[in-house]
Amino acid sequence: DREIGQAAVEGVQALIGSGDTDVMLPDYTDLDAYRAEGGYTQLQKLRDGEVSVEQVIETLGDASLRGLGGAGFPTGRKWSLVGQNAGPRLMTVNGDEGEPGTFKDRYYLERNPHGMLEGALIGATCVEAEGLYIYMRDEYPAVLEILRREISALEDAGLVEPGFISLRRGAGAYICGEESAMVESIEGKRGLPRLRPPVIGQVGLFGRPTLNNNVETLYWVPQILEKGAAWFADQGSEDHPGFRSWSVSGRVRNPGVWKAPAGVTVRELIEMAGGMAEGHAFKAYLPGGASGGILPASKGDVALDFGGELAELGGFVGSHAVVVFSDQDNMKDVALNLIDFFAHESCGQCTPCRGGTEKLSQLLRRETLDEEAISDLEQVMRDASICGLGQAAPNPVRHLLTYFREDL
Ligand code: SF4
Repeated sequence: DREIGQAAVEGVQALIGSGDTDVMLPDYTDLDAYRAEGGYTQLQKLRDGEVSVEQVIETLGDASLRGLGGAGFPTGRKWSLVGQNAGPRLMTVNGDEGEPGTFKDRYYLERNPHGMLEGALIGATCVEAEGLYIYMRDEYPAVLEILRREISALEDAGLVEPGFISLRRGAGAYICGEESAMVESIEGKRGLPRLRPPVIGQVGLFGRPTLNNNVETLYWVPQILEKGAAWFADQGSEDHPGFRSWSVSGRVRNPGVWKAPAGVTVRELIEMAGGMAEGHAFKAYLPGGASGGILPASKGDVALDFGGELAELGGFVGSHAVVVFSDQDNMKDVALNLIDFFAHESCGQCTPCRGGTEKLSQLLRRETLDEEAISDLEQVMRDASICGLGQAAPNPVRHLLTYFREDL
């Protein structure tokens, strides 16, 4: 696990440090190398009827694989539900990875893109999708180039029909990681989240039932089918089955991607990342990027997983992006940074979020805090925003007032 973290850092440095304006491609496992190691066997078994769709879905359910883009919805259940909606159906892969502090999808795609591609083709086969759209953030030029090459290689090898997979580029909007906004963006419109219901599994891309999964979720699918559900589930604990890829950054010695059980604590993650950076003492952390709130070191032994004690504290593990802060950081600055980020990235479609994020930022900057106004605004944003951005935007402010009054 330590090697995974260090390799991630080295990989990033290799790209940035090239001094070359062309895209530098990292060493990665191409189609031939992937197939030489048994890749695409699981897809072939499904296509040949050696395993049924029901068996695949049951295995994913037994493994407790959940949506690792942030929502945590059980993957097998989602595949089953989408497959029950009347066709024709489509599939999308969400590679927008815009949550601040999250870089695990990039890590996997720059090393083994066919893990995700095989998982996606298995998902598309299970729901009988008539097309597969991969939505990839434009800030990952190496990933885009790798995917272009490898999708082409898949077509040349006859593993997919030409044109079945469409690669679409995002344009830097955080909100386009929200699945219904992503669907709008793929359709060529502004990325505005849709009102729900219906969910996109019922009425999604081009009006069709759409199966949407995150990159990492799909990455584990072929391995779970090959090694069995227990291989994945047993790497967690009874209450928190499975493992996760944690993007750990901030004031730690070795920032990077760390594989650890679901339910791990931030203190354990800091230890895996080599401890706190020289001269820094652990003070606070973001358990789930910008959206998951800010917790103090005194809550550093909370199991990090969907729901549970973390949710009771108003925290959220989301895409498993853990950002560590130290005694040299002021948490009001951190909260302001986050709320300004949300104000900038709000799509502006609904008033509680569009007006609320800006107003929260202004209220926090006042010399005398109007806590009643902050609380009222927070409630309105949580109750009346259309999507998760506006609903989660008050989290850092609430936690600032709860845990870090000395920083105000
Ligand atoms: Fe747009 Fe914010 Fe409303 Fe979401 S909550 S739809 S981001 S304005």
